[in-house]
Amino acid sequence: MKVKESGEKEFRRHFPLLKNRSDLVYLDSAATSQKPEKVLQVLDSYYRKHNANVHRSFHELAEESTRILEDARDGVCSFLNGTSRKEVIFTRGATEALNLLAWTLPELLVKEGDIILTTLLEHHANFVPWQQAAFRKGAILVFIPARQDGTLDFDFLHELEKDGRARRVKIAALGHLSNAFGTIHPLKKLSPWCRERGIPLVLDAAQSIAHLPLNVQTLGVDFLVFSGHKVYGPMGSGVLWGREKWLEKMPPWQTGGEMIVRVTPEKTGWNELPYKFEAGTPDVPAAAGLAAALQWMKDTGLKSLREKEQALNHYAFQKLRNAEGLVLYGPLDESCRQSVFSFNLEGIHSHDVAQILDRTNVAVRAGHHCAQPAMRALGIPSTVRASLGIYNTFEDIDRLVHALKNVQELFL
Ligand code: PMP
Repeated sequence: MKVKESGEKEFRRHFPLLKNRSDLVYLDSAATSQKPEKVLQVLDSYYRKHNANVHRSFHELAEESTRILEDARDGVCSFLNGTSRKEVIFTRGATEALNLLAWTLPELLVKEGDIILTTLLEHHANFVPWQQAAFRKGAILVFIPARQDGTLDFDFLHELEKDGRARRVKIAALGHLSNAFGTIHPLKKLSPWCRERGIPLVLDAAQSIAHLPLNVQTLGVDFLVFSGHKVYGPMGSGVLWGREKWLEKMPPWQTGGEMIVRVTPEKTGWNELPYKFEAGTPDVPAAAGLAAALQWMKDTGLKSLREKEQALNHYAFQKLRNAEGLVLYGPLDESCRQSVFSFNLEGIHSHDVAQILDRTNVAVRAGHHCAQPAMRALGIPSTVRASLGIYNTFEDIDRLVHALKNVQELFL
């Protein structure tokens, strides 16, 4: 059943923290999102009513807990329009999922002198693990160049063709929606190229999961990762979705209980998918909370969520773009950006701006946004970042713009 929303403020009422802090303008959803009541209920009821370890015991409570975990897997699989629950692996978040990949895929594919292709615009979570994998394997990290407006120059792929480096590319990793500049990177410029060459493409969907439709059957990627806490779910939850053909071949990452089928003093056999990649006791309530968040979005109506977000995005973009003395980063073409607004006020340090905004209950982030190579590539030391969630309102944007004017007056 769809939840009927009469006005834009209606979304906010699903979020207890925002109801309790009615004056808060929360514009830091790219760091973490707030949680709807439905998710809090699932977290609470798990430990009150269902807590037991999964898979290993034969009692009723253990079966309940196992069912909760496996239902959560089915929920994630359906949200991503996946075809097999074997392809959904629970992790602690996007960072852990990317580390899992960077420790296992290169074992299968990368040798000395090979190339791992990525970009300078990545979050550190999709950068450092590949950098370290390249060090371990004696491979080379090659970057699709960034333009000054935070977009990527995919013509570079022709260069790789011409100079013969394309043959050495063994893995490609790309962030879908930049947490630093809000750029939506056009997958269709990279995925067919990877497909033709049989190169697995890893998509960091940590930011896009809450804002863009993600359908693994049409995206053209081989792996997709995200964190639950950025999509209205709990911290400590996350997903690695991967194509079975790759997951079957990849060695396990962490070893221990649950991921085995038979252990003898001489050797160990790995469990079937997805358990081969889920060593140890899983965070069942986190997985259940994550699935509840995705279900909440579906029940609320993905179409109405997206429409509301688009309207809010447009409003924020116009307001910030036209604000005097404000330098807005990222693409000027509105269709290439989403939900993240990175900017500076001329002559005022980003940390000062964020601190003064906080005094009027406007919560934003300031700094390098865990994207130091990106900031360096564009020659920007730090920015203020206002990022949107489904609970934000036009009034929130007005409050932000008004508060920014006050900061400017203070520094005049
Ligand atoms: N990738 C991107 C684009 C992100 O924005 C983030 C979080 N800021 C991550 C990866 C890492 O997510 P987490 O810290 O939840 O593992």
